[in-house]
Amino acid sequence: MPKVLKADGMNKCIGCFTCMLACSGVNRQNHSISKSAIKVRTSGGLKGKFIADVCIACNDERACAEACPSGALEAREGGGVLLKAEKCIGCKRCVEACIVSAVFFDDTIGKPIICKHCGVCTRFCPHECLRMEEQDNDI
Ligand code: SF4
Ligand code: SF4
Repeated sequence: MPKVLKADGMNKCIGCFTCMLACSGVNRQNHSISKSAIKVRTSGGLKGKFIADVCIACNDERACAEACPSGALEAREGGGVLLKAEKCIGCKRCVEACIVSAVFFDDTIGKPIICKHCGVCTRFCPHECLRMEEQDNDI
């Protein structure tokens, strides 16, 4: 059964950025947090808590895929999309279209950074802020 990432424990986040380092390192072979598909940030103010900007795995209308003019974003089973990099023309329309601002862009290679719901980040978070949830609805 397909699973999707749920960042619904962010009230426990301490802002260590381990999830971002894990995502960048494993998925992009890059040791900076800039290539991560999950972005942890403060919600504002000196005492602001941490929140995560990350794909919410839309499984009905995928705004990013609908906005893509080259068919580079294919529906992922269970929710979200998978990037077909060879089809991407780097126009950033997916970045603009995402309803939760969770599509990021890698200017180095000219392609979007999109969560593939692999679950790597969930395994590294020391506070169980992130988890994987089974989806029973198919595409
Ligand atoms: S589920 Fe995978 S791709 Fe998505 S943010 Fe976590 S590590 Fe990155
Ligand atoms: S690994 Fe967990 S605690 Fe650390 S920044 Fe990410 S969500 Fe927050």
